[in-house]
Amino acid sequence: MKITECHVCFGFATTMTETDEKLMILALAEARTAAAAGEVPVGAVLASAEGQILAWARNRTIEFSDPTAHAEILALRQAAKKADNYRLTGTVLVSTIEPCMMCMGALVHARVGRIVYGAADDKWGAAGSLYDFSADPRLNHRIEVVSGVMAEECRSLIRNFFKNRRKTP
Ligand SMILES: [Zn+2]
Repeated sequence: MKITECHVCFGFATTMTETDEKLMILALAEARTAAAAGEVPVGAVLASAEGQILAWARNRTIEFSDPTAHAEILALRQAAKKADNYRLTGTVLVSTIEPCMMCMGALVHARVGRIVYGAADDKWGAAGSLYDFSADPRLNHRIEVVSGVMAEECRSLIRNFFKNRRKTP
């Protein structure tokens, strides 16, 4: 198991799996904030390969009247601005839901190294479900994908959101 060290957020010598889960807890908090605002509950955290948090965001498409304002895109924008670099080579994107085609396209452009997601999305997912942009030999960049991290929490958040929305007239 890979041992990583993060001086900023999680103390020392946490394993990569522990780090993934800790980042996912943060992404889930963002997703809950999105749900409270009436947005589809998706949250994302972008971290360095060592687990240092660079950006976090939630889905804000309604608030911004912007179809591209997905959590992953907003996290990428924040981190790229902070780094003053449109390439975020080797970073890790943690998202509660499998990234869609648009976000996977952006993640490939940004040269993100690893994606960790919670629940798969069979309607939009482009990291293995509907498409797999992470390992398409026609693209010039590969992304390692880890799926199913805290999947049940991520999935039930989305499920409850749509269930409640259907109830409201
Ligand atoms: Zn997306």
